[in-house]
Amino acid sequence: MEYFRLRGIGVSPGISIGEVLLTERVVFTSRKEKISSSQVKQELIRLRNAIERTKEQLVIIREEVKRKIGEEHSFIFDAHLLILEDNSLLSRLERIIKEERTRTEWAISRVHDEAIEIFESIADEYFRQRKSDVSDVLSKMYRNLEFTGQKKEDDGEDRILVGHDLLPSEAALRLSRGNVLAVAIDVGGQTSHTAILARSLNIPAVMGLRNITQKVKNGDCLIVDGTDGEVIINPPLAIKKEFTGKKKKYDDYRKELRKTAKLSPSTLDGVKFSPLANIELPEEVNLAFSLGAEGIGLFRSEFIYFKNSTLPSEEDHFRIYSRIAKEAYPFPVYIRTVDVGGEKSLQQLKIEKEPNPALGLRAIRFSLRDREQFKIQLRAILRASAQKNVRLLIPMITEIEEIGEVKLLIDEVKEELREKRLEFDEDIPLGVMIEVPAAAAITDIIVKEVDYLSIGTNDLIQYYLAVDRSNELVSYLFKPLHPSVLRLLKFIIEAAHKEGKEVTVCGEMAADSLSAIVLFGLGIRKFSMNPIFIPRIKKALRSLESKTVVKIIQKAMKLKTAQEIEEFIIESILVKHPEAFLMGKIT
Ligand code: PEP
Ligand code: MG
Repeated sequence: MEYFRLRGIGVSPGISIGEVLLTERVVFTSRKEKISSSQVKQELIRLRNAIERTKEQLVIIREEVKRKIGEEHSFIFDAHLLILEDNSLLSRLERIIKEERTRTEWAISRVHDEAIEIFESIADEYFRQRKSDVSDVLSKMYRNLEFTGQKKEDDGEDRILVGHDLLPSEAALRLSRGNVLAVAIDVGGQTSHTAILARSLNIPAVMGLRNITQKVKNGDCLIVDGTDGEVIINPPLAIKKEFTGKKKKYDDYRKELRKTAKLSPSTLDGVKFSPLANIELPEEVNLAFSLGAEGIGLFRSEFIYFKNSTLPSEEDHFRIYSRIAKEAYPFPVYIRTVDVGGEKSLQQLKIEKEPNPALGLRAIRFSLRDREQFKIQLRAILRASAQKNVRLLIPMITEIEEIGEVKLLIDEVKEELREKRLEFDEDIPLGVMIEVPAAAAITDIIVKEVDYLSIGTNDLIQYYLAVDRSNELVSYLFKPLHPSVLRLLKFIIEAAHKEGKEVTVCGEMAADSLSAIVLFGLGIRKFSMNPIFIPRIKKALRSLESKTVVKIIQKAMKLKTAQEIEEFIIESILVKHPEAFLMGKIT
């Protein structure tokens, strides 16, 4: 048995060790068998029967998934039923069978190839991944052509699921059975259904492994490390031991962290803080709350655009916003208007190539250029605000005039909604992201114009320090604890507090234990982050005394370099509150 290590993308943290179970794949036929015209009629009946059978199975699976893991994961099957009920699919299949006088198997294979080709030509990753839904439905139909009763499923033993591209329905069904130790997949990434599902069910998963299906067979031993994105095939005993130890440590730590979800978010001396979640998909809402979020602090709405090849309609926007608002109710949901443009380019928006995209037509600059699209989004957000737990958040504000223009558009949209007698929150809070240094420097002026601020430290630091952190040549300069960054943050936070306005941090600084402690010391009480980091931050802040932190940060602000600041804070905190950094690097 050969020993191998493979690197992929860790999409769901944790470690599992177990035996491989390869998922079944339907291989579509490439054999074009000619049939007589009298057989054509029979083939059409076979096709319709296969479709009917597939529908029945989908309804059964949908109910099973709903019962076992909840309604929010069963919508995939509604989407599959819609694909099956699409008349253009049926008529395309029937036309191939009739005109080319072929068997149904070949017609399905042909339609499958056509669909995959279309999906693969789409540049956007999220949308490209949706090809698996079509693949999934057609595979089921294909299998049902040769209906021989229920195929023998896995024997129920705990195994590690390995596949090329786990179909969404297969993922929902198999992962809901409770016997999947981990998932290792050739393709895919963070935004695939399987990744989202694995994260919310706490199943370690690594995707994008390219060719793991060719390197393993059923029964091989596998270690899946979803935290580091590594998969080890047939590990020697010493490595197995090492990972068993790591797994135990991780599981204990996770259990400990999970306990914090139910604990009050307050420091040792009773100062409250609020962990919020940054999400990109509505499916993440439940996970966020189960990890202790007290609201959705940032919904990155550009992900609605990534889902489709055409521009989303007002209803497309509304459906997603109202679903999130309902699921989060009564907690708040901060919906950020699209942050596209720059490097987040989308085909359907037809943005011209810019010489320097990071300094170009991004976010609110883009929205104010295409006001009709912007108003569609504003209308949908306002309509979703009827329950009064939605807030509007505007990205990349540079100057006060932009806020004025946004307000005019909001007033126009409100008037239109009143005329149509559609409900919305008349007092929907309006906030802006502080992520352009110029906006940060006039926070005292900006804050008077809005209800709250949210500091986007990812962009703010990149623009303030003039460092692209994805550029390996200069990323060492990206230092959130650079004294100039801390001075700027202090200024922003104090300016907001002077006006009695709320200020949140939604950049990655909020998810790092040390940085979150610094932010707390500077007066931040709302921390919005990727939900999986909430327990870690909650644990760090709960183990501190507010008074001590404030004093330490005040002293740290006098130091000259990021390194001195970091060392000083760690040493000073460790003396009084050693638990604050306990395994701080593990999520
Ligand atoms: C930020 O810039 O810190 C932020 C939260 O926005 P995004 O990461 O979506 O650009
Ligand atoms: Mg940003």
